[in-house]
Amino acid sequence: MPALQLSDAVARIKPSATIAAATKAAELKAQGVSVLSFTLGEPDFDTPAHICEAATQAMAEGHTHYTPAGGTVELKEAICRAYARDYGLEYTPANVVCSNGAKHSIHNVLAALCGPGDEVVIPTPYWVSYADLVELTGAKAVLVETTEASGWVLAPEQLREAVTPATKLVMLNSPTNPTGAVYPVETLKALGEVIVEKDLWCLTDEIYEKLIYPGYEFAPFAGFGDEVKARTIVVSGVSKAYAMTGWRMGWAISPDPALAKAMTKLQSQETSCPSSVTQKATIAALDGPQDCVAEMLSAFTARRTFVLEKLAGLPDVTYAEPGGAFYAFFNVAAHFGKPLGSSGRSVENATDFCTQLLEDAQIALVTGDAFGAPGYVRMSYATDLETLGAGFEKLGAFFARE
Ligand code: PMP
Ligand code: GLU
Repeated sequence: MPALQLSDAVARIKPSATIAAATKAAELKAQGVSVLSFTLGEPDFDTPAHICEAATQAMAEGHTHYTPAGGTVELKEAICRAYARDYGLEYTPANVVCSNGAKHSIHNVLAALCGPGDEVVIPTPYWVSYADLVELTGAKAVLVETTEASGWVLAPEQLREAVTPATKLVMLNSPTNPTGAVYPVETLKALGEVIVEKDLWCLTDEIYEKLIYPGYEFAPFAGFGDEVKARTIVVSGVSKAYAMTGWRMGWAISPDPALAKAMTKLQSQETSCPSSVTQKATIAALDGPQDCVAEMLSAFTARRTFVLEKLAGLPDVTYAEPGGAFYAFFNVAAHFGKPLGSSGRSVENATDFCTQLLEDAQIALVTGDAFGAPGYVRMSYATDLETLGAGFEKLGAFFARE
């Protein structure tokens, strides 16, 4: 066997921390340990029946072949219809590229636009994959810190200060993973003004657009006028809103069809096309009845209320209330250096905290270190109330040692 020397690009990146934490919890479960895992951000609901039926029908009708590389025109038209219906945003199929999940769409956008010498501004805390996907292209991720006190929102002046002549793209994500922050409409508008003023591209990851809690409002970034729309690449997909994580379907909507064409070219060499059956299922999701989305949101709303109640009862943790998505992101730094859990060991950081919580209490969370937020941990509450209740009980006992 030749000596293994990995490429620079692969050597540069880390494994996805969310997937690594979920895998570790699953391995322990397979060994018979009863782990409560709050790691993965994926709805626990089954995909709604009418979507599955559309897939079955697609297979029966022979839609089991390659499709055009960026997805069928029929699917792209369904996506355009959904944006016109939901947000009044007009696009044509030439703007749309469909891929194997929004993660793949983000990769395509970055690979098509960025390379060595370019800078990409990312507010922290950020979803684990952003910085690595940027670094994979050879571009530099410029991390700009937001704080719990600000509600985890990037201020327009922070963006203005972070921009250099090398800045190519800004990545926004509202509702945000891992914090659940929903950017106020006024802030988005002001960020749009900076993006226009500095003439930058903006990748807006709107995968949690349908998971918005009472009192919060989702505003699509491309909706802030023609000048913003002309610089905005919208990324979204069906994973979260329709409980379709395993189907793998996401899309990027580019204002410039030439950018969509470039991504399609890339994809024609990478994956040929997204799954033909998934494409049919996605049309059913977007065109079909939307009450399934409302039903899942109402379950998530009840879980969020429960989680916020329980978080308020934990000693010395701080957090900002999530307005969307299904994550609680809380600071446990006050517990560092103190005895914790059944072992009574102390920890020095959030990564050690998660390791010890798993070992002592069999609770799996994701460390904030993976999201660029030391001292914090992320709990996904895309799981049933009973499991959440059991989790908080164990978490309470883990802290009770002090
Ligand atoms: N963006 C964010 C912020 C996410 O949390 C996720 C979750 N996986 C994705 C993109 C990608 O979703 P998917 O690839 O399943 O469409
Ligand atoms: N986005 C989800 C999460 O953050 C799924 C896992 C992943 O793709 O990283 O947990």
